[in-house]
Amino acid sequence: MKLVFLGPPGAGKGTQAARVETAYSIPQLSTGDMLRAAVAAGTEIGKQAEDIMARGDLVPDEVVVGIISERIEADDCANGFILDGFPRNVSQARALDEVLVKKDVTLDAVIELAVDPDILIARILKRANESPDGARDDDTEEALQHRLRVYEEQTAPVADFYAEKGILRTLDGMQEMDEVTQQIRSALDTI
Ligand code: ADP
Repeated sequence: MKLVFLGPPGAGKGTQAARVETAYSIPQLSTGDMLRAAVAAGTEIGKQAEDIMARGDLVPDEVVVGIISERIEADDCANGFILDGFPRNVSQARALDEVLVKKDVTLDAVIELAVDPDILIARILKRANESPDGARDDDTEEALQHRLRVYEEQTAPVADFYAEKGILRTLDGMQEMDEVTQQIRSALDTI
């Protein structure tokens, strides 16, 4: 099963994608995690991405498209994958289409978690305070406001892009975590 998870920062997308990874034995590919690992390791990509991420902007499309197109070639993606945090704008979505066409692969579904934007900042600041690893560089209120704006302007149109293809499933991300998991399972079981 090839899936995309869409949702604003704080929507619970990463948690839900991790649960789907376990339930369906397909890897969760989070571009945010991969970029943070690159920053921590001090690679060229990490150096390029660090400041951009800290202020909540998007790293260049070619960087993330390159990372993902290489990653989905790996053996563990043979049965599918969950893209978490990618594509994040329509041009990444188009680039992904091209990559998948070349591999003769199609996406089965795009799961969008819809959440009231007003609660997101509080949710993330709470998560940041409770995190044993400390807050992320981009979990300041200012960077968060910016990430939410970037989501509205650049990522929300990705949902329309997939709605036109008929594979968008929008679910209510305001429910309890387990309830959201249940909704996702029901949606995926019809595929
Ligand atoms: P969140 O969903 O909480 O904003 P992520 O971990 O998905 O967090 O992403 C963190 C940051 O990593 C983003 O704000 C952006 O700077 C960078 N990033 C992640 N994925 C992409 C992507 N597909 N395109 C460009 N930048 C990305």
